[in-house]
Amino acid sequence: MSLPKCWSCQYTFKYKEALTFLAIKQCPNCQKKQYLTSKSNLKTGIPPVLIMLIPGFILRLFVDISFILYMSIIVGLFVLAVLALPFSYEFTKKKEPLF
Ligand SMILES: [Zn+2]
Repeated sequence: MSLPKCWSCQYTFKYKEALTFLAIKQCPNCQKKQYLTSKSNLKTGIPPVLIMLIPGFILRLFVDISFILYMSIIVGLFVLAVLALPFSYEFTKKKEPLF
């Protein structure tokens, strides 16, 4: 787990900068455009889905929890997944295809 680097100037993104990357998509140091590599695109897409679906699903099998509680757990897990996202980013110069 490490924070992503700019492909151009090797500037290491701060956690907060990486977190807002999806909105800005450029290096805060040299202003060059950054794209996610296909590999990191995959890594950022799959874990949040797994994190959100699996624990809640398993929990519902064993414990009789209310829908509201179930939803708050899902939202909590989703927030955690989003907060962990910056660590799976890898930047590249050109836009890569998804697969
Ligand atoms: Zn840079």
